[in-house]
Amino acid sequence: MKIMMKAPAKINLTLDVLNKRPDGFHEVEMIMTNVDLADRIELEMLPKDEIRILSHNRFVPDDSRNLAYQAAKLLKDRYQIKSGVSITIEKVIPVAAGLAGGSSDAAATLKGLNRLWDIGLSLDELAELGAEIGSDVSFCVYGGTALAKGRGEKIQKLPPPPNCWVVLAKPTIGVSTAEVYKNLKLQGINHPDTAAMIEAIKNQDYEQMCASMGNVLESVTLKLYPEVAQIKEQMERFGADAVLMSGSGPTVFGLIQHDSRMHRVYNGLRGFCEQVYAVRLLGEGEGEPIA
Ligand code: ATP
Repeated sequence: MKIMMKAPAKINLTLDVLNKRPDGFHEVEMIMTNVDLADRIELEMLPKDEIRILSHNRFVPDDSRNLAYQAAKLLKDRYQIKSGVSITIEKVIPVAAGLAGGSSDAAATLKGLNRLWDIGLSLDELAELGAEIGSDVSFCVYGGTALAKGRGEKIQKLPPPPNCWVVLAKPTIGVSTAEVYKNLKLQGINHPDTAAMIEAIKNQDYEQMCASMGNVLESVTLKLYPEVAQIKEQMERFGADAVLMSGSGPTVFGLIQHDSRMHRVYNGLRGFCEQVYAVRLLGEGEGEPIA
C-alpha cells in the first residue's frame, strides 16, 4: 500500500515577534500562505517495524533528525502502530531556506500516515500533534493561508489572498534561525501591520497586501548576510511589486501581478542566484493524497 502526498512550501506575508516568553520561545504573529513549490512524499507500508527515509538530497537527513521521520515515530508511538513505513522524499523546496520545507514534509507524513494506517484523526488533532514536532508543522497541516500565533502553532484560517506570481530566490548560504533570533533586539523594532494584511486579504486588495508586507527578522538577517540584501535590491530593481524575506531567510520573494514583469524579474535574478523559482500562490490548503 502506497500514498503520494504533496508538501508545499510557505512564505511569510508578515512575521512579527511580540516578546520573548519565559520558556525561551518567542511569541510570534505571522501570516503564512502556501506557494506552488512542493516536495513529493511517497509513503509505503512496510511489514517490518521500522521507519526508513529515502532522499537523494544530501542536505536531507535520513535518520531520526528528519522531521518526516519524527512525524511517523510520533504516530507509531502514540497509536501503537506495529507496521513500518518507507518515506521517500523527492526534495524540491530549498533546504534551510525559510520556506518550511521540513515542516511541510512532516505535515504531509502525518496526513498520509493517518490514512495509510487508518488512524482516523481529524485535521485539528493532526495539527496538535504537529506542534510537538515543530512550530510551523501545525500551519502546514492545514495549509492554505492563516494567521499563526503563540510560537506559531495557534492557527486561524484566512481566505486565499489575491492571486499573483511569486518569484523566489535563495542565495547559496545557510541561515541559522537561532542566530537570527539571538541578534533580534525587541526594543524599537518596526512591527508589520498584521491587521492591515488581514483586511487586504479579506478585501482581495492586492495593493494593500503589497504595502502591508513586513518581517521583523529581515533587518537582522540582512545585516548578518549582505548577500540577502543584494538579492532584495535586485528584485526591486527588476520591478517586483513588493519584496520580502521569508521566515528567518535567506530566501527572498517578490510578488508580481503581470506575466511579462514576472519573466523580467525571474530572468534577471537567474544571473545572480542559482536557485530561482517563479510559482503561483496556492491560496487554498491542499492535503489530499495525489495518488
Ligand atoms: P522554517 O521555515 O520552518 O524555519 P526552513 O525552511 O528554514 O524551516 P528546513 O528546510 O525545514 O528549514 O530545514 C532546516 C534543517 O532541518 C535542515 O538543515 C535539515 O538538516 C533539517 N531537516 C529535517 N528534516 C528535513 C526535511 N524533511 N527536509 C529538509 N530538511 C530537514
